[in-house]
Amino acid sequence: MKAHKKTIISVTGLKKYFRVGEVIVQALRGIDLSIEEGEFVAIMGASGSGKSTMLNILGCLDQPSEGTYLLDGTDVSGLSKNELARLRNLKLGFVFQSYNLLPRTSALENVELPLFYNHAIRARERRERAEAALGAVGLADRMHHMPNQLSGGQQQRVAIARSLVNDPVLILADEATGNLDTRTSYEIMALFQELNEKGKTIVFVTHEPEIAEFMGRNVVFRDGNIVKQNPLLKRNSAMEMLKALPPEND
Ligand code: ADP
Ligand code: MG
Repeated sequence: MKAHKKTIISVTGLKKYFRVGEVIVQALRGIDLSIEEGEFVAIMGASGSGKSTMLNILGCLDQPSEGTYLLDGTDVSGLSKNELARLRNLKLGFVFQSYNLLPRTSALENVELPLFYNHAIRARERRERAEAALGAVGLADRMHHMPNQLSGGQQQRVAIARSLVNDPVLILADEATGNLDTRTSYEIMALFQELNEKGKTIVFVTHEPEIAEFMGRNVVFRDGNIVKQNPLLKRNSAMEMLKALPPEND
């Protein structure tokens, strides 16, 4: 345990409106949220409650309509689109429900992509880092496979390797187990837990309470507000839950 935890995310009075024709949709209605280094936070809530809108803003994919957002000490509200893109590629990692891999590009090349933003990194180092990231997610023997030659769980591992390769201060995941069966979900959550135990800060959107119980704090959204914030007393171990599953009969 470090004595002083750094605050990675500090959000105050954050609002987000979308204009749909004549109608203004208030997706976020005044969010205050602070996340420290090393936390593993679940963003929960029903469909339409504002989870993805929140994650997109935290990930600098979108900007708030009102309020402030400090990411690792940087006030991101004043940044241009280019500066936001640079920040994303240098500091953040993303994992989505549908993996979002480039289809005609090998696992290794997919993982290399975020590093192209950092001009200090040469081809050889890019390759080595991508290989190391794929090794860390258990895919050392699948580097040259194309996405469609991999299972859903393996594709999500490639996406996780891609999210790790720039050594981000924060990993953001949106329903990252949403397309996976129970066993594969637990495997992916075991991997996220391992990353978190090594110190990675993770914000993970899920509407599934069982998945949220693998994390250290649950933040519940309803109609664009945070209605509950529970630190979990004891989080479940995905590895233990995997071992408790009945054996696969294939
Ligand atoms: P969740 O991820 O919790 O299901 P979202 O953050 O996607 O919820 O959506 C929150 C609300 O904002 C919903 O009412 C949704 O319809 C609306 N919304 C989200 N994105 C947009 C958009 N780009 N344009 C218009 N409305 C949007
Ligand atoms: Mg969503």
